[in-house]
Amino acid sequence: MAKQEDDFKKVISHAKEYGYVFQSSEIYDGLSAVYDYAQNGAELKKNIREYWWKAMVQLNDNIVGIDAAIFMHPTTWKASGHVDAFNDPLIDNKDSKKRYRADVLVEDHVAKIEAKIEKEVAKAAKRFGDKFDKEQFLATNQRVVDYQEQATAILKRLGRSLENEDLADVKKLIEELDIACPMSGSKNWTEVKQFNLMFGTKLGATADSAMDLYLRPETAQGIFVNFLNVQKTGRMKIPFGIAQTGKAFRNEIVARQFIFRMREFEQMEMQYFIKPGTQQEWYEKWKENRMKWHLSLGLGEDNYRFHDHEKLAHYADAAADIEFRFPFGFKELEGIHSRTDFDLSSHEKFSGKKLQYFDPETRESYVPYVLETSIGLDRMFLAVFSNSLVEEELENGSTRTVLKLPAVLAPTKAAILPLVKKDGLPEVAHEIIEDLKWDFNVTYDEKDAVGRRYRRQDANGTPFCITVDHQTLEDRTVTIRHRDSMEQERVSISSLKEIIHKAVDMKTWLMKMQKL
Ligand code: ATP
Repeated sequence: MAKQEDDFKKVISHAKEYGYVFQSSEIYDGLSAVYDYAQNGAELKKNIREYWWKAMVQLNDNIVGIDAAIFMHPTTWKASGHVDAFNDPLIDNKDSKKRYRADVLVEDHVAKIEAKIEKEVAKAAKRFGDKFDKEQFLATNQRVVDYQEQATAILKRLGRSLENEDLADVKKLIEELDIACPMSGSKNWTEVKQFNLMFGTKLGATADSAMDLYLRPETAQGIFVNFLNVQKTGRMKIPFGIAQTGKAFRNEIVARQFIFRMREFEQMEMQYFIKPGTQQEWYEKWKENRMKWHLSLGLGEDNYRFHDHEKLAHYADAAADIEFRFPFGFKELEGIHSRTDFDLSSHEKFSGKKLQYFDPETRESYVPYVLETSIGLDRMFLAVFSNSLVEEELENGSTRTVLKLPAVLAPTKAAILPLVKKDGLPEVAHEIIEDLKWDFNVTYDEKDAVGRRYRRQDANGTPFCITVDHQTLEDRTVTIRHRDSMEQERVSISSLKEIIHKAVDMKTWLMKMQKL
């Protein structure tokens, strides 16, 4: 645990030191769980967004993108169920005065049991070497089987109690499991209460005429209320999708995990409108499709897993998360939900307007079902960033910190470095920048010895360093250094564009999805 915490602290401080993420309003001591993206962070975030947008909208001729407003008519949130049911169960520790999500306390307890299983597996793998069969071990080792049964039983009971709104049983479960406050070790808990996560605000100039509004807690509803407008104006035929990226707001109870859980965050969502009865097939397809998108970035297959939901949200008939191995363990990165016709039917009821699709072939009208993929842009940022940050031991015994961002997402693609600040080398470096800047984000750096500049760009995540030296003046060649391998090649200035393009081109990266 200590190592995990330490690694996570390194991620947070690196994000600040290299201009990726700052605490919001830092000069006023910050605002809890609100963050600003800095000069490099804004670029990385934009690139992730674009990578998603291209995969969803550009590459699917039946998916279109919209950009709906954050403010919506307040009845939207009655219809969606958020006014009545968008609650988290909270519990306070009477001694430490710390507030927790009751379900998270239980889930963390289960995570500890799962960690024990992983430990047993690792021990056995070492003992049996090549002969180790993980599946068989998991199925037959009595201790592991017991752990697994414990974990499943706890999650089942939690799911059942939450579904039945039996908060007293959630409290009982916390007591039975002997869960202590992680801050104080105390087991002196209050009752479990429901807490609505929506932020309220007002629209209008005078107090009497003001209308109570909410800041949207998810982007999806902007898509549902526009379903028919888009279908008609775009002449869309089912199945078709509407995609959107944008801010969402949740008054999270526990928000201590940097940009993993924020009060203001960004979602990238796609709602796929389908014929009722076909939801299972599309659910499987989108699970597979979204996993391929993740794997195309090369962060490592072992870092992802599916987690099927025991407890379903009020709108869903099936749901799974894609979980990622964050520095603090496997956690939800993306949700794939089969939402039935819950949302559209409910908006029909509350608005009195028909939200139905007329099928030109069968000449029937029906309320479509919806399959949703929903990913947090900030969580994706954290997944990419934390996974890329590595400390490497070098052959000469020194270490280097390198941010091995997928080149397609890196904020700056190349740094152009004159070996010295004289003899006309800066001028040639600027000439190269003038040529490359039309295609790529590039930067110039002449301060310090070239070795230190390499290290700085490594830590910044820049895939290429291009060094201009005296030979350049004679033969128009430069050295290009690759961030990950640290290999250097002598190449002509005229070939730079092609070399960089090959490494960072979004098309090449996205096409990997087809091969997975
Ligand atoms: P969690 O269980 O972690 O609270 P959720 O199941 O409520 O998440 P969804 O409502 O399914 O999340 O939202 C879809 C995605 O939006 C999540 O998979 C996550 O990536 C992102 N997300 C949700 N809440 C936050 C938040 N507070 N900060 C950052 N990202 C978030």
